[in-house]
Amino acid sequence: MDPLYLSNTDCPCCATNFEITRVRPSFKNPNRSDTDFCGYYKNGVNPDFYVVRICPSCGYSFSENGVKQLSDEDKAIYFAEIGKHWVSEYFHGERTIQQALTAYKRALMIAQLMKAENRLIAGLLHHIAWLYRYMEQEQDEQRFLQFALEKYIVVYENEENSEKNAKLLYIIGELNKRTGQYSEAVKWFSRVVNDKSIMDAGMIRASREQWKDIGEILAQQRESNLS
Ligand SMILES: [Zn+2]
Repeated sequence: MDPLYLSNTDCPCCATNFEITRVRPSFKNPNRSDTDFCGYYKNGVNPDFYVVRICPSCGYSFSENGVKQLSDEDKAIYFAEIGKHWVSEYFHGERTIQQALTAYKRALMIAQLMKAENRLIAGLLHHIAWLYRYMEQEQDEQRFLQFALEKYIVVYENEENSEKNAKLLYIIGELNKRTGQYSEAVKWFSRVVNDKSIMDAGMIRASREQWKDIGEILAQQRESNLS
């Protein structure tokens, strides 16, 4: 069975109905995942590549999560700043990693212009970091992990009850760890482990493991400094 199928959707900006490519649900489970949830898929079709939809008519780009109809004011802002440069192009069919990257960067630019929710922007930045990881472009991956981290912290500072959101605390710890900010990482992992009101067993276990791993990295660094 082809993991991809065609569907269609309406553009929230210009109302054009257009074809989109989607991944069948049975192909959406990763074979394995990194500790920050970056997924690897054994049949080579990565569902993340298809999350961003691009309207062929006006170029408005949006992820399947959090689609909102644009107000007339927002449409005017979009066309004045970004839409006027659009050259009609179809993005359906199988996507290469480069096309996925183009789609995510366009969605990011538009989300920033439209002042989208911080959580959505953090997710786009994190996904772009993963695309660079797949391509083994470490400098760009690190740059986008740092951008995503800063945005997740804004989410933490602004969302209600975020201090109880174990997954958010964990991901902030994990991105600190991946960008080499170990003492900051420990601060966030220890919150998940030590807050008695947090019940998310999976995140508690993962935080404990990553915390322990940092202990080992630091011990190794001390050893190599002594020798
Ligand atoms: Zn459109």
